[in-house]
Amino acid sequence: MPEPSTNEIVCRFAPSPTGQLHIGGARTALYNWLLARGSGGRMILRIEDTDRVRSTKENVDQIIEALEWLEIDWDGDPLSQAGHQSRHLEVIQQLKQSGHAYEHEGATRLRVPEDGETVVRDLIRGDVTFKHEAIDDFTIARSDGSPLYNLAVAVDDLDSGVTHVVRGEDHLSNTPRQVMILKALEQEPPVYGHLPLLHGPDGKKLSKRHGAASVQELRDAGFLPQAVRNYTALLGWGYDDKQTFFSTDELVKLFSLDRVGRSAAVFDEQKLRWMNGTYLREMDPGQLTVALEAFTGRDGLAGAAGLCREKIQTLADFWPLAGFFFDGPAEDAKAHAKFLDEEGRARLGEARDALATLEPFTDESIENALREVVERLDVKPKQLFQPVRVAISGTTISPGIFESLALLGREESLSRIDKAISAA
Ligand code: GLU
Repeated sequence: MPEPSTNEIVCRFAPSPTGQLHIGGARTALYNWLLARGSGGRMILRIEDTDRVRSTKENVDQIIEALEWLEIDWDGDPLSQAGHQSRHLEVIQQLKQSGHAYEHEGATRLRVPEDGETVVRDLIRGDVTFKHEAIDDFTIARSDGSPLYNLAVAVDDLDSGVTHVVRGEDHLSNTPRQVMILKALEQEPPVYGHLPLLHGPDGKKLSKRHGAASVQELRDAGFLPQAVRNYTALLGWGYDDKQTFFSTDELVKLFSLDRVGRSAAVFDEQKLRWMNGTYLREMDPGQLTVALEAFTGRDGLAGAAGLCREKIQTLADFWPLAGFFFDGPAEDAKAHAKFLDEEGRARLGEARDALATLEPFTDESIENALREVVERLDVKPKQLFQPVRVAISGTTISPGIFESLALLGREESLSRIDKAISAA
Protein backbone atom coordinates (compact mmCIF):
# COMPACT_ATOMS: atom_id res chain seq x y z
CA MET A 1 0.00 0.00 0.00
CA PRO A 2 1.48 3.41 -0.83
CA GLU A 3 2.46 5.53 2.10
CA PRO A 4 2.16 9.32 2.10
CA SER A 5 5.24 10.63 0.38
CA THR A 6 4.80 14.35 0.74
CA ASN A 7 4.22 14.44 4.47
CA GLU A 8 6.67 13.45 7.12
CA ILE A 9 5.90 10.17 8.82
CA VAL A 10 5.36 10.57 12.54
CA CYS A 11 5.34 7.42 14.65
CA ARG A 12 5.00 6.91 18.34
CA PHE A 13 5.59 4.26 20.94
CA ALA A 14 3.09 4.67 23.74
CA PRO A 15 3.83 2.24 26.55
CA SER A 16 1.89 2.06 29.78
CA PRO A 17 4.58 1.81 32.43
CA THR A 18 3.54 -1.36 34.19
CA GLY A 19 6.99 -2.89 34.72
CA GLN A 20 9.61 -4.34 32.45
CA LEU A 21 9.43 -3.89 28.68
CA HIS A 22 8.08 -7.11 27.23
CA ILE A 23 9.18 -8.57 23.93
CA GLY A 24 5.90 -7.55 22.34
CA GLY A 25 6.40 -3.96 23.46
CA ALA A 26 9.98 -4.01 22.22
CA ARG A 27 8.77 -5.16 18.82
CA THR A 28 6.17 -2.38 18.70
CA ALA A 29 8.82 0.17 19.63
CA LEU A 30 11.26 -1.21 17.08
CA TYR A 31 8.78 -1.26 14.18
CA ASN A 32 7.73 2.32 14.88
CA TRP A 33 11.34 3.37 15.12
CA LEU A 34 12.28 1.60 11.86
CA LEU A 35 9.36 3.20 10.08
CA ALA A 36 10.26 6.66 11.37
CA ARG A 37 14.00 6.38 10.81
CA GLY A 38 13.64 4.67 7.45
CA SER A 39 11.55 7.55 6.12
CA GLY A 40 13.41 10.42 7.73
CA GLY A 41 10.35 10.97 9.92
CA ARG A 42 9.84 11.50 13.62
CA MET A 43 9.65 9.08 16.50
CA ILE A 44 7.76 10.05 19.62
CA LEU A 45 7.86 8.33 22.99
CA ARG A 46 4.66 8.89 24.93
CA ILE A 47 4.36 7.43 28.36
CA GLU A 48 0.72 6.48 28.98
CA ASP A 49 0.88 7.23 32.64
CA THR A 50 -2.71 8.04 33.50
CA ASP A 51 -2.80 5.13 35.94
CA ARG A 52 -1.04 7.02 38.70
CA VAL A 53 -0.57 3.98 40.91
CA ARG A 54 1.33 1.90 38.40
CA SER A 55 3.12 4.74 36.69
CA THR A 56 5.97 4.98 39.16
CA LYS A 57 9.24 6.60 38.25
CA GLU A 58 10.84 3.17 38.54
CA ASN A 59 8.47 1.67 35.98
CA VAL A 60 9.02 4.55 33.56
CA ASP A 61 12.79 4.28 34.00
CA GLN A 62 12.67 0.56 33.28
CA ILE A 63 11.06 1.17 29.91
CA ILE A 64 13.46 3.93 28.99
CA GLU A 65 16.42 1.84 30.05
CA ALA A 66 15.27 -1.11 27.93
CA LEU A 67 14.77 1.13 24.89
CA GLU A 68 18.21 2.64 25.37
CA TRP A 69 19.74 -0.81 25.65
CA LEU A 70 18.12 -1.70 22.32
CA GLU A 71 19.40 1.60 20.91
CA ILE A 72 15.92 2.76 20.05
CA ASP A 73 15.83 6.52 20.38
CA TRP A 74 13.13 9.15 20.00
CA ASP A 75 12.85 12.80 19.12
CA GLY A 76 12.39 15.31 21.90
CA ASP A 77 11.64 14.47 25.49
CA PRO A 78 9.28 11.64 26.38
CA LEU A 79 5.71 12.94 26.57
CA SER A 80 3.51 12.27 29.56
CA GLN A 81 -0.12 11.50 28.83
CA ALA A 82 -1.12 12.49 32.35
CA GLY A 83 0.53 15.85 31.69
CA HIS A 84 -1.97 16.51 28.90
CA GLN A 85 -5.05 16.24 31.07
CA SER A 86 -6.18 19.83 30.73
CA ARG A 87 -6.12 19.46 26.95
CA HIS A 88 -8.16 16.25 27.22
CA LEU A 89 -10.73 18.05 29.38
CA GLU A 90 -10.90 20.86 26.84
CA VAL A 91 -11.65 18.40 24.04
CA ILE A 92 -14.35 16.73 26.11
CA GLN A 93 -16.01 20.13 26.49
CA GLN A 94 -15.65 20.79 22.80
CA LEU A 95 -17.30 17.46 21.93
CA LYS A 96 -20.18 18.23 24.26
CA GLN A 97 -20.65 21.66 22.75
CA SER A 98 -20.68 20.32 19.22
CA GLY A 99 -23.28 17.75 20.24
CA HIS A 100 -21.04 14.75 19.59
CA ALA A 101 -20.95 13.90 23.27
CA TYR A 102 -23.46 14.09 26.09
CA GLU A 103 -23.66 13.52 29.80
CA HIS A 104 -25.22 10.40 31.15
CA GLU A 105 -25.37 9.78 34.92
CA GLY A 106 -22.48 12.20 35.29
CA ALA A 107 -20.19 10.45 32.81
CA THR A 108 -19.63 11.76 29.29
CA ARG A 109 -20.34 9.58 26.30
CA LEU A 110 -19.59 9.88 22.64
CA ARG A 111 -22.59 9.49 20.36
CA VAL A 112 -22.19 6.60 17.95
CA PRO A 113 -24.58 6.75 14.96
CA GLU A 114 -27.10 3.92 14.79
CA ASP A 115 -26.26 3.16 11.18
CA GLY A 116 -23.22 3.09 9.03
CA GLU A 117 -19.73 1.97 9.78
CA THR A 118 -16.27 3.14 10.67
CA VAL A 119 -13.43 1.96 8.52
CA VAL A 120 -9.97 1.62 10.00
CA ARG A 121 -7.22 1.94 7.42
CA ASP A 122 -4.70 -0.65 8.42
CA LEU A 123 -1.50 -1.10 6.43
CA ILE A 124 -1.13 -4.68 7.64
CA ARG A 125 -4.72 -5.90 7.50
CA GLY A 126 -6.18 -3.71 4.82
CA ASP A 127 -9.37 -1.82 5.63
CA VAL A 128 -11.12 -3.16 8.70
CA THR A 129 -14.79 -2.30 8.90
CA PHE A 130 -16.70 -1.89 12.17
CA LYS A 131 -20.47 -1.65 11.95
CA HIS A 132 -21.91 1.02 14.21
CA GLU A 133 -24.80 -1.15 15.25
CA ALA A 134 -22.29 -3.24 17.19
CA ILE A 135 -20.81 -0.25 19.04
CA ASP A 136 -22.65 1.50 21.88
CA ASP A 137 -22.20 5.12 22.79
CA PHE A 138 -19.02 4.93 24.80
CA THR A 139 -17.64 6.77 27.77
CA ILE A 140 -14.95 9.36 27.18
CA ALA A 141 -14.97 10.88 30.70
CA ARG A 142 -15.83 9.34 34.06
CA SER A 143 -18.41 10.94 36.32
CA ASP A 144 -15.58 12.62 38.23
CA GLY A 145 -14.70 14.29 34.92
CA SER A 146 -11.45 12.41 34.33
CA PRO A 147 -10.76 11.53 30.69
CA LEU A 148 -10.79 7.92 29.55
CA TYR A 149 -8.21 6.01 27.63
CA ASN A 150 -9.56 6.19 24.07
CA LEU A 151 -10.06 9.91 24.31
CA ALA A 152 -6.58 10.54 25.67
CA VAL A 153 -4.93 8.39 22.98
CA ALA A 154 -6.88 9.96 20.11
CA VAL A 155 -6.19 13.51 21.29
CA ASP A 156 -2.52 12.88 21.97
CA ASP A 157 -2.02 11.29 18.57
CA LEU A 158 -3.74 14.25 16.98
CA ASP A 159 -1.75 16.84 18.89
CA SER A 160 1.55 15.16 18.08
CA GLY A 161 0.69 14.94 14.40
CA VAL A 162 1.01 11.17 14.45
CA THR A 163 0.58 9.79 10.94
CA HIS A 164 1.12 6.07 11.64
CA VAL A 165 -0.09 4.16 14.69
CA VAL A 166 1.68 0.84 14.89
CA ARG A 167 0.71 -1.27 17.87
CA GLY A 168 -0.36 -4.71 19.01
CA GLU A 169 -3.41 -6.43 17.58
CA ASP A 170 -5.00 -6.33 21.03
CA HIS A 171 -5.69 -2.63 20.39
CA LEU A 172 -7.63 -3.16 17.18
CA SER A 173 -10.99 -3.18 18.95
CA ASN A 174 -10.24 0.26 20.45
CA THR A 175 -9.34 1.72 17.12
CA PRO A 176 -12.82 2.50 15.70
CA ARG A 177 -13.57 4.43 18.88
CA GLN A 178 -10.42 6.48 18.50
CA VAL A 179 -11.23 7.08 14.84
CA MET A 180 -14.77 8.22 15.78
CA ILE A 181 -13.40 10.69 18.30
CA LEU A 182 -11.07 12.16 15.69
CA LYS A 183 -13.84 12.36 13.10
CA ALA A 184 -16.10 14.07 15.62
CA LEU A 185 -13.30 16.63 15.94
CA GLU A 186 -13.31 16.89 12.15
CA GLN A 187 -9.79 15.56 11.98
CA GLU A 188 -8.28 13.00 9.66
CA PRO A 189 -7.30 9.88 11.63
CA PRO A 190 -3.83 8.41 11.21
CA VAL A 191 -3.29 5.15 9.38
CA TYR A 192 -2.84 2.08 11.52
CA GLY A 193 -0.81 -1.09 11.56
CA HIS A 194 -1.90 -3.73 14.05
CA LEU A 195 0.84 -6.24 14.70
CA PRO A 196 0.15 -9.95 15.01
CA LEU A 197 0.20 -11.62 18.40
CA LEU A 198 3.32 -13.28 19.71
CA HIS A 199 3.25 -16.98 20.50
CA GLY A 200 5.73 -19.35 22.05
CA PRO A 201 6.97 -22.34 20.03
CA ASP A 202 4.06 -24.38 21.45
CA GLY A 203 1.55 -22.09 19.72
CA LYS A 204 0.31 -20.53 22.98
CA LYS A 205 0.33 -16.83 23.74
CA LEU A 206 3.85 -15.75 24.72
CA SER A 207 4.41 -15.74 28.47
CA LYS A 208 7.00 -16.38 31.14
CA ARG A 209 6.66 -20.11 30.53
CA HIS A 210 8.52 -19.68 27.27
CA GLY A 211 11.62 -18.28 28.96
CA ALA A 212 12.70 -14.69 29.13
CA ALA A 213 9.70 -12.51 28.38
CA SER A 214 11.18 -9.05 28.84
CA VAL A 215 14.07 -7.12 27.38
CA GLN A 216 15.70 -6.86 30.81
CA GLU A 217 15.55 -10.62 31.24
CA LEU A 218 17.14 -11.14 27.87
CA ARG A 219 19.91 -8.70 28.74
CA ASP A 220 20.50 -10.48 32.05
CA ALA A 221 20.51 -13.83 30.28
CA GLY A 222 23.50 -12.63 28.25
CA PHE A 223 21.94 -11.68 24.93
CA LEU A 224 23.45 -8.88 22.88
CA PRO A 225 21.29 -5.88 21.99
CA GLN A 226 22.14 -6.21 18.30
CA ALA A 227 20.96 -9.85 18.27
CA VAL A 228 17.77 -9.06 20.19
CA ARG A 229 17.05 -6.19 17.82
CA ASN A 230 17.63 -8.35 14.74
CA TYR A 231 15.55 -11.21 16.12
CA THR A 232 12.74 -8.94 17.31
CA ALA A 233 12.55 -7.37 13.85
CA LEU A 234 11.77 -10.82 12.45
CA LEU A 235 8.79 -11.38 14.75
CA GLY A 236 6.19 -10.67 12.11
CA TRP A 237 8.34 -9.03 9.46
CA GLY A 238 10.63 -10.56 6.85
CA TYR A 239 12.37 -9.14 3.83
CA ASP A 240 12.42 -12.29 1.77
CA ASP A 241 12.51 -15.98 2.57
CA LYS A 242 16.27 -16.09 2.71
CA GLN A 243 17.80 -13.36 4.79
CA THR A 244 17.97 -13.77 8.56
CA PHE A 245 20.79 -11.47 9.58
CA PHE A 246 20.25 -7.75 9.18
CA SER A 247 22.39 -4.92 10.39
CA THR A 248 20.49 -2.04 11.93
CA ASP A 249 21.18 0.04 8.83
CA GLU A 250 19.70 -2.67 6.64
CA LEU A 251 16.63 -2.91 8.85
CA VAL A 252 16.14 0.83 8.68
CA LYS A 253 16.43 0.71 4.92
CA LEU A 254 14.37 -2.40 4.23
CA PHE A 255 11.61 -2.38 6.84
CA SER A 256 8.08 -1.71 5.68
CA LEU A 257 4.67 -2.52 7.07
CA ASP A 258 3.55 -4.23 3.89
CA ARG A 259 5.94 -7.06 4.68
CA VAL A 260 4.48 -7.59 8.14
CA GLY A 261 2.31 -10.70 8.25
CA ARG A 262 -1.06 -11.12 9.88
CA SER A 263 -0.63 -14.47 11.53
CA ALA A 264 0.88 -14.89 14.97
CA ALA A 265 4.66 -14.70 15.12
CA VAL A 266 6.63 -17.22 17.15
CA PHE A 267 9.20 -16.14 19.69
CA ASP A 268 11.65 -19.01 19.97
CA GLU A 269 14.40 -18.46 22.50
CA GLN A 270 16.46 -21.28 20.98
CA LYS A 271 16.53 -19.48 17.69
CA LEU A 272 17.54 -16.28 19.42
CA ARG A 273 20.34 -18.19 21.20
CA TRP A 274 21.60 -19.45 17.88
CA MET A 275 21.46 -15.99 16.39
CA ASN A 276 23.18 -14.47 19.39
CA GLY A 277 25.97 -17.04 19.11
CA THR A 278 26.55 -15.97 15.55
CA TYR A 279 26.73 -12.32 16.60
CA LEU A 280 29.18 -13.22 19.37
CA ARG A 281 31.47 -15.01 16.96
CA GLU A 282 31.40 -12.11 14.54
CA MET A 283 32.31 -9.57 17.17
CA ASP A 284 35.72 -8.05 17.09
CA PRO A 285 37.80 -9.85 19.80
CA GLY A 286 38.35 -6.65 21.75
CA GLN A 287 34.63 -5.88 21.79
CA LEU A 288 33.80 -9.40 22.86
CA THR A 289 36.22 -9.08 25.76
CA VAL A 290 34.69 -5.77 26.80
CA ALA A 291 31.19 -7.28 26.64
CA LEU A 292 32.22 -10.31 28.69
CA GLU A 293 34.02 -8.19 31.25
CA ALA A 294 31.00 -5.94 31.64
CA PHE A 295 28.69 -8.94 31.95
CA THR A 296 30.76 -10.89 34.47
CA GLY A 297 32.22 -7.94 36.35
CA ARG A 298 35.69 -9.49 36.02
CA ASP A 299 38.67 -8.33 34.05
CA GLY A 300 41.58 -9.85 32.21
CA LEU A 301 39.29 -12.04 30.13
CA ALA A 302 40.83 -11.54 26.68
CA GLY A 303 42.67 -14.88 26.47
CA ALA A 304 39.78 -16.95 27.78
CA ALA A 305 37.36 -15.05 25.54
CA GLY A 306 39.39 -16.10 22.52
CA LEU A 307 39.26 -19.76 23.57
CA CYS A 308 35.53 -19.76 24.28
CA ARG A 309 34.07 -17.67 21.49
CA GLU A 310 33.26 -20.67 19.30
CA LYS A 311 31.56 -22.47 22.17
CA ILE A 312 29.20 -19.90 23.63
CA GLN A 313 25.84 -18.62 22.48
CA THR A 314 25.27 -16.02 25.16
CA LEU A 315 27.51 -13.94 27.43
CA ALA A 316 26.15 -16.03 30.31
CA ASP A 317 27.53 -19.23 28.77
CA PHE A 318 31.06 -17.91 29.20
CA TRP A 319 31.71 -18.12 32.92
CA PRO A 320 30.61 -21.74 33.44
CA LEU A 321 33.04 -22.64 30.68
CA ALA A 322 35.92 -20.34 31.56
CA GLY A 323 35.62 -19.64 35.28
CA PHE A 324 38.20 -22.32 36.06
CA PHE A 325 40.95 -20.25 34.48
CA PHE A 326 40.41 -17.61 37.14
CA ASP A 327 38.85 -19.31 40.15
CA GLY A 328 40.59 -22.70 40.00
CA PRO A 329 39.18 -26.06 38.99
CA ALA A 330 35.48 -26.69 39.53
CA GLU A 331 34.48 -29.46 41.87
CA ASP A 332 32.81 -32.05 39.72
CA ALA A 333 33.03 -35.16 41.91
CA LYS A 334 31.75 -37.41 39.15
CA ALA A 335 34.37 -36.29 36.64
CA HIS A 336 36.98 -36.61 39.33
CA ALA A 337 35.99 -40.16 40.24
CA LYS A 338 35.79 -41.22 36.62
CA PHE A 339 39.03 -39.79 35.23
CA LEU A 340 41.31 -39.35 38.21
CA ASP A 341 41.34 -42.95 39.35
CA GLU A 342 44.69 -44.68 39.87
CA GLU A 343 45.29 -45.23 36.18
CA GLY A 344 44.27 -41.74 35.29
CA ARG A 345 46.60 -40.30 37.88
CA ALA A 346 49.47 -42.44 36.59
CA ARG A 347 48.92 -41.08 33.08
CA LEU A 348 48.70 -37.58 34.50
CA GLY A 349 52.19 -38.13 35.96
CA GLU A 350 53.48 -38.88 32.48
CA ALA A 351 51.84 -35.75 31.11
CA ARG A 352 53.37 -33.73 33.90
CA ASP A 353 56.86 -34.91 33.08
CA ALA A 354 56.37 -34.10 29.41
CA LEU A 355 55.15 -30.58 30.20
CA ALA A 356 57.63 -29.76 32.95
CA THR A 357 60.56 -28.93 30.69
CA LEU A 358 58.75 -28.21 27.46
CA GLU A 359 60.09 -25.16 25.62
CA PRO A 360 58.35 -23.12 24.38
CA PHE A 361 55.06 -23.70 26.21
CA THR A 362 52.61 -23.10 23.37
CA ASP A 363 49.41 -24.66 21.99
CA GLU A 364 51.44 -26.45 19.36
CA SER A 365 54.32 -27.72 21.48
CA ILE A 366 51.88 -28.88 24.17
CA GLU A 367 49.83 -30.77 21.62
CA ASN A 368 52.94 -32.48 20.20
CA ALA A 369 54.23 -33.39 23.64
CA LEU A 370 50.93 -34.86 24.85
CA ARG A 371 50.40 -36.80 21.62
CA GLU A 372 53.83 -38.32 22.06
CA VAL A 373 52.82 -39.46 25.54
CA VAL A 374 49.65 -41.01 24.10
CA GLU A 375 51.72 -42.94 21.62
CA ARG A 376 54.33 -44.05 24.11
CA LEU A 377 51.68 -45.27 26.59
CA ASP A 378 49.72 -46.83 23.76
CA VAL A 379 46.41 -45.44 25.03
CA LYS A 380 43.56 -43.67 23.32
CA PRO A 381 43.97 -39.87 23.22
CA LYS A 382 40.94 -39.47 25.50
CA GLN A 383 42.54 -41.64 28.16
CA LEU A 384 45.22 -39.03 28.62
CA PHE A 385 43.42 -35.86 27.67
CA GLN A 386 40.40 -36.32 29.91
CA PRO A 387 42.48 -36.71 33.11
CA VAL A 388 44.43 -33.60 32.11
CA ARG A 389 41.22 -31.73 31.42
CA VAL A 390 39.69 -32.69 34.76
CA ALA A 391 42.94 -31.84 36.55
CA ILE A 392 43.06 -28.29 35.23
CA SER A 393 39.36 -27.44 34.89
CA GLY A 394 37.74 -29.79 37.39
CA THR A 395 35.19 -30.88 34.78
CA THR A 396 34.95 -32.66 31.46
CA ILE A 397 33.66 -29.59 29.66
CA SER A 398 36.26 -26.98 28.82
CA PRO A 399 37.73 -25.18 25.85
CA GLY A 400 40.49 -27.00 23.90
CA ILE A 401 42.89 -28.70 26.25
CA PHE A 402 46.17 -27.60 24.62
CA GLU A 403 45.05 -23.99 24.38
CA SER A 404 43.80 -24.08 27.94
CA LEU A 405 47.13 -25.36 29.26
CA ALA A 406 48.99 -22.70 27.30
CA LEU A 407 46.71 -19.98 28.62
CA LEU A 408 47.11 -21.14 32.22
CA GLY A 409 50.88 -21.22 31.76
CA ARG A 410 53.33 -23.86 32.80
CA GLU A 411 53.48 -23.08 36.48
CA GLU A 412 49.75 -23.02 37.11
CA SER A 413 49.15 -26.06 34.88
CA LEU A 414 51.76 -28.12 36.71
CA SER A 415 50.48 -27.05 40.10
CA ARG A 416 46.92 -28.14 39.20
CA ILE A 417 48.17 -31.43 37.78
CA ASP A 418 50.23 -32.05 40.94
CA LYS A 419 47.22 -31.38 43.11
CA ALA A 420 45.13 -33.81 41.08
CA ILE A 421 47.81 -36.49 41.32
CA SER A 422 48.17 -36.19 45.05
CA ALA A 423 44.45 -35.89 45.85
CA ALA A 424 43.72 -39.61 46.05
N1 GLU B 1 -0.47 2.20 26.24
C1 GLU B 1 -0.83 1.09 25.44
C2 GLU B 1 -0.05 -0.14 25.83
O1 GLU B 1 0.91 -0.06 26.52
C3 GLU B 1 -0.59 1.34 23.97
C4 GLU B 1 -1.56 2.28 23.39
C5 GLU B 1 -1.37 2.58 21.92
O2 GLU B 1 -0.33 2.20 21.35
O3 GLU B 1 -2.24 3.20 21.36
O4 GLU B 1 -0.40 -1.22 25.47
